[in-house]
Amino acid sequence: MAKKNCSICGAEIGLMKQVQLADREFICRDCVKKTSPFFVPLERTTYDYKEHMKQLENGKKLYDAYFAGNKAAEKFLSKRVLVDKNTGLMCITEKRGRIILWGGTPFYMVFRIADLEICEGESRFEKGSDGKNVEKFETHFIFHDVVGLYDFKVPSSKGSHDAMMKCLDKILGKTGFGSIKAGFKKNQEDVRMAASIAGNLKNMMANKDGGAEAMRQDAEEIAEAMENSFYHGREELVAKADAAIKNVLG
Ligand SMILES: [Zn+2]
Repeated sequence: MAKKNCSICGAEIGLMKQVQLADREFICRDCVKKTSPFFVPLERTTYDYKEHMKQLENGKKLYDAYFAGNKAAEKFLSKRVLVDKNTGLMCITEKRGRIILWGGTPFYMVFRIADLEICEGESRFEKGSDGKNVEKFETHFIFHDVVGLYDFKVPSSKGSHDAMMKCLDKILGKTGFGSIKAGFKKNQEDVRMAASIAGNLKNMMANKDGGAEAMRQDAEEIAEAMENSFYHGREELVAKADAAIKNVLG
């Protein structure tokens, strides 16, 4: 078997130490250790890895500025999730190696709360040390239009998950969760948008024989309308978070 080189640092990796990424590149264990424990190499590409590194670097700066020692920030999921309604930011943190070494290395990711697309409790069964099935509860996060790590699961409990949802729902206000749900609330603007999407769909049907280009354009318009609908009602939260981020990262 040919030796592989780490696609990040270039180091030669022995067969036993290979970790594969989603794009079939390999990375070394040392480079894996630099990621948040929520980063699953097999699900992510080399590009994701590089963006994740920037995300962690920025996350640390934003954590220091807005979350470290911030008593007003609400804490959920055993302090893995910190929510600050004043800046419109949330921090997701976890330590790597805290089972082996006392303490461990913390990793911080900071997101705009307005980008939160999915936040769902999921339970699965895992074989425990006694061979019996143990129920594990996790919270599945997906952030909209974010590079780096934006889709991951965090260990939680039903109670802690529900408490966090209550807090986030309150901050997100009437829009709640989910781009389509958020976009189609019954108010005038949404009705107008729905009408425009319906119009586009009708055009797409009519243009079936009118060439691929017309269909592509219509599809793009629909995608754009859907995209805009995501942030509908979240504009203030976006502005607040952007100002806070700009303050620290420039
Ligand atoms: Zn490496």
